[in-house]
Amino acid sequence: MRASISIDVDSLRFYHQIHGLPERPVEDDPIYSVALPRFFELLAEVGVPATLFLVAEDAAKHPRAFEAVGPSGCEVGSHSFHHDYALSQWGEAEIRADLEAADRALQPLNAGRPIVGFRAPGYNVSAALLEVVQSLSYRYDSSLLPAPAYFAARAAAIGLYGLRGRPSRSLVGRYAQFAGPLEPYRTTAQAPWIPSADGALLELPMAVEPTSRVPLIGTSLSALPSLVFDRLLSRALSRLSFFNFELHAIDLLDASDHASLGELAAYQKDLRVSAAEKRRRLAALFGRLKDAAEVATLATHAEALSPV
Ligand SMILES: [Zn+2]
Repeated sequence: MRASISIDVDSLRFYHQIHGLPERPVEDDPIYSVALPRFFELLAEVGVPATLFLVAEDAAKHPRAFEAVGPSGCEVGSHSFHHDYALSQWGEAEIRADLEAADRALQPLNAGRPIVGFRAPGYNVSAALLEVVQSLSYRYDSSLLPAPAYFAARAAAIGLYGLRGRPSRSLVGRYAQFAGPLEPYRTTAQAPWIPSADGALLELPMAVEPTSRVPLIGTSLSALPSLVFDRLLSRALSRLSFFNFELHAIDLLDASDHASLGELAAYQKDLRVSAAEKRRRLAALFGRLKDAAEVATLATHAEALSPV
């Protein structure tokens, strides 16, 4: 069995956007100064690598936060340059400019290696976006979360924010994108939720429990009772051949780590769980993945699944 840990490193300002809060500069963003050092320490302690999907515009301002990428065997993937939640609605030329700028900025943070993986902001893709991904040097896309219930819950939350007059910048997206296959498959830019044996794109979807399709991601690890999460995880590990655990850098922070997080905690329950408790749960999960599977970066798995 193959497993990966992929961490979306979204700066704090994007959480203000999701919750429709006024944007303001975050002094010394704790995503880069606190969460990332904690992640590298935890990964080293368990002895597993991870793939870090970075927002190039912000990550490039914090090069020291990524000095551990090379020595730790981690991989940097592209989470786009601007992390615009509407990227999937842009035209192809604008998308190409954004992704090329991201690659240039991120390569130095990936120990000088080319960027070979992409994850779209907000799990939303389009034919134009994936056509660009396909035409650049990427070996895989990992943007799809095949969880219909997640789609429904997010659509409801976005609708609610709209009704309260505080629109979220996050997009509802398209249902079919949340109902695709659970394991790696080749596909096309036009319908990435449908497998196509000779498709040019390799999709590495994020992990869900195979029957209920409950997302097994960082947010569920802190939100669900441990016993429930562990049961869903056991079922997934016994039935899937590939487990791509997705989490966010904010998953190792709590409300006490920064004044901005204290404010966000009113909207995000996960920030009310202590960082120590979340670290304990993540360490246990990473250890379980290491016992059950070959834990490697998504780039390593992509290469083994689709050698060039
Ligand atoms: Zn993101």
